[in-house]
Amino acid sequence: MAVYMEELDAFSYAQKIGEGAPVLIPAGSIEQHGPHMPLHVDTLLSRRMAGETAQRIGAIVAAPMAYGYKSQQRSGGGNHLPGTTSLDGALVTEIAKTLVLEFIRHGARAIGFVNGHFENYQFLYEGADLALRELGCAGEDVRVMLLSYWDFVDEATIGRLYPNGFTGWDLEHGGVLETSLMLHLHPEQVDMTKVVDAPPAELPNYDVLPVRPELTPDSGCLSSAAEATAEKGRILLETASAGMSEAITSEFGLISR
Ligand SMILES: [Zn+2]
Repeated sequence: MAVYMEELDAFSYAQKIGEGAPVLIPAGSIEQHGPHMPLHVDTLLSRRMAGETAQRIGAIVAAPMAYGYKSQQRSGGGNHLPGTTSLDGALVTEIAKTLVLEFIRHGARAIGFVNGHFENYQFLYEGADLALRELGCAGEDVRVMLLSYWDFVDEATIGRLYPNGFTGWDLEHGGVLETSLMLHLHPEQVDMTKVVDAPPAELPNYDVLPVRPELTPDSGCLSSAAEATAEKGRILLETASAGMSEAITSEFGLISR
């Protein structure tokens, strides 16, 4: 079943929307992910996570937000690194708001952002909030959800996949989570011989601007991907998409059309 909007013809798309299909908007980034992975990891993984979820619940996946908010040193290595190409927060907010309004114009009443880049979240939230405020004034009844896919990896799965201890999702940049998912979904885009197997980055518990580049490990990764495997990626995709499907079904099930 085709779930990706850009692969559908306009008439099939309109029919699905008319039947009440939720629209899932992947939100990614163009950001360095170490020497072993390409720049579009967040965009690719948010799109595939949304795709897997959409298959389960009959949703449509919108064309992704390919660029994201600025990489932060404590969760993405920092925006100073070459290749990382980011948008100002106001622009991310504006894009998120515009997309919500566009899908509402098409007839959608249930919209979800599937986030794959830590730093996007508050700007997606702001865009959704501004869109709903505008729609509320127009008397439209719409619901928007925000989901970061790693929030749907449960404690039991974390215990299974990180037997030597879990450092937290912020330090997972270019680490086991993203690398395993890429090994499962796009192994041809991963070069495990280039993984830098270093201990997790030690960053201060505050931010400083301009960034001090020496705080970011040379690899650009905040934890090691050495323990990543395609099998872990399969489990992560399965767990996260099942969890998101459940949450979306439950929230959007409340909407009567
Ligand atoms: Zn990432």
